[in-house]
Amino acid sequence: MVDPPLRDGAVVIKGGRVLEVGPADKIRRRYPQNKMTPLAGQAILPGMINAHAHLELSHVEAEDLPHDSFVKWVRGLRAMLRSDVVDPARSALKGVWQSIVYGVTHIGDISRSCRETRGLLRHGPARITSFGEALGLAKLRPNFEESLPGALDDSFQNQRLRIGLSPHSPYTVDLAGYRQCLVLARKLCLPLATHLAEVPEEREFLMNQTGPLRKMWDKFGLWADPVETFKGSPIAMAKAIGLLDYPTLLAHVNDCTEEELGWLKDGKASVVYCPRTHAYFNRPPHSWRRMMELGINVAVGTDSRASSPTLNLVDDLRLLHQQSPDVPVERIWHMATINGARALECDGGQIAYGEPADLVSFDIQSDDPLTEILENNLIPNGVWVGGKLILPQSLQ
Ligand SMILES: [Zn+2]
Repeated sequence: MVDPPLRDGAVVIKGGRVLEVGPADKIRRRYPQNKMTPLAGQAILPGMINAHAHLELSHVEAEDLPHDSFVKWVRGLRAMLRSDVVDPARSALKGVWQSIVYGVTHIGDISRSCRETRGLLRHGPARITSFGEALGLAKLRPNFEESLPGALDDSFQNQRLRIGLSPHSPYTVDLAGYRQCLVLARKLCLPLATHLAEVPEEREFLMNQTGPLRKMWDKFGLWADPVETFKGSPIAMAKAIGLLDYPTLLAHVNDCTEEELGWLKDGKASVVYCPRTHAYFNRPPHSWRRMMELGINVAVGTDSRASSPTLNLVDDLRLLHQQSPDVPVERIWHMATINGARALECDGGQIAYGEPADLVSFDIQSDDPLTEILENNLIPNGVWVGGKLILPQSLQ
């Protein structure tokens, strides 16, 4: 990230990457022959990275779902998706544009219909890390195996889209499934993501196969013994099977103890906190500040439109800033930029030599752009991906 953000500056782009960055007058003298897009009075920031989303749910409105309990929400979403006839790829592309307008240039997207979504998003305006989702235990165990070939299909990879693998969660994937995904990710050098410790009920489900999550399986009529149990929490399970020794992207990690934070600190995994989704479920405070104090990499995500009002990642940063005004704004912005790049194991998240020219510009009045953007409802007036101007189209 440019520190401080580049006001009245210029970025020289070659081959879609940053060649040089600095004050506009200096750059103009050094590159007099270059065409420059005028950005006077604006701040240039790195394009933002939404490290956890489900773009194919971008047609859903969170407020249409019950959310006083997580299980009710899952059941409501499942019922809605079974009755809707929606093209997942079109919904995902809609989600990309819902992200781009707010300055998000790279999305860590979890996809169940990855053949369809990848086919369209590879030609889309944003960078996508497309985690093919695998899930299914008990009577649905065959679904897990059946989802793997699609999830691992790399035929759609290009400069904009790369693939990853995502075993869904400890209440939908058994231990053998998690082990298999980790082996595959290591062998194929793939990014790996999972939902972990999202709700306290995961502990009970994992240890004893009882509680609300088990009742949910029973209500669906899909439970069948035996399913292997684990005598410990979801984070202990992640540690035991090696997920923390891999740069696994762990979405949520809402339910964790100080001892478990110590395991995360000693491991390679990143945490993705989704502030507005957290607020939607009215969850107790998240440990993101403690995690960052310990040196754990914490990125931010929106999660899907089924739990977040929009895909405006800056609004998630705004919520963090409102709730924790004592945290330096630079640290909050890092969560949506360089921390996101680290979580997704990709370039970007900063404006520096050799980095992809993924940029956003904001019209700024003050000398403190990062605070000004957070404390006002500013949206970008320019978005570039790989040096190509995506928005506004009037400048193209
Ligand atoms: Zn999610």
